[in-house]
Amino acid sequence: MPEGDTIRRLADKIATRFSGERCTRCVTRDPRLVGVDFTGARLVEADAVGKHLLLRFDDGRTLHAHLLMTGSWTVGPVATEPEWRRRIELWMETGRLTGLDVPVLEVLPTRDEASVVGHLGPDLCAPEAPDLDEVVARLHREPDAPLAGAMLDQRNVAGFGNLYAVELPFVVGVSPNQPVGTVDGLIDLVRLGTAMIRVNAHRGPQNTTGRKLGTDDHWIYPKRGRPCPLCGTRLDGWAEGRSPWGRVSAWCPDCQRVTPRRTVDLERARKLLALHPARHAPWRAFG
Ligand SMILES: [Zn+2]
Repeated sequence: MPEGDTIRRLADKIATRFSGERCTRCVTRDPRLVGVDFTGARLVEADAVGKHLLLRFDDGRTLHAHLLMTGSWTVGPVATEPEWRRRIELWMETGRLTGLDVPVLEVLPTRDEASVVGHLGPDLCAPEAPDLDEVVARLHREPDAPLAGAMLDQRNVAGFGNLYAVELPFVVGVSPNQPVGTVDGLIDLVRLGTAMIRVNAHRGPQNTTGRKLGTDDHWIYPKRGRPCPLCGTRLDGWAEGRSPWGRVSAWCPDCQRVTPRRTVDLERARKLLALHPARHAPWRAFG
């Protein structure tokens, strides 16, 4: 599933390529978009709020898309996928913008955007840094929720997807199953996660290790059943159908034990992320 950093990069790419350009032809193949036509409208900006993509046009309309698990966009070249997968195609002045298999696609007045993104928690990848105290307060609203479930609830914080809900708990030595209300130093985890996702939104690959920086290198996602890279214990995990929060997960049953209270281990994070550029981000991960 695309995470907030991926959508932010997509929005920036669309904005860089097409902002200020007029749509010269528009084809939709989605029953929800019958009658929608952007021909003649100029793209003002492309924005991301959490995992929501918002394309704003100069006629007061916004095209809202959420990619969920399946959607993607082709920015520039003509898409080669079969027509039925191209839910919307916009001929811009210098290229084509095509939404492929996008499951959530709708048009609404720009002034009503809050109706689709107003429920979201602070956006980790917004241009201005998010309010971390607000994020922590929202995560604490349901203290018995498992840490990973709370992180994935976009009403608490917008942007984390399952990759970060597996990797960040591992990096700080806390189980994704640990009730979020029993995690001491939660703000350190949020600060670290924010630094990592913002750095990755800027750089590109969703790298959580700092090794092989040009690639999507991860510590334990999705390596359930493999040895823990730190202690060698066989990783435990949830299959998608059994997970309390509905997503696959992995954790080390030894170094990420569930305990009555659990403190975010910044020493462990420092060691694991010694090479990760999030350490040097303006958004300092380690205080
Ligand atoms: Zn371990």
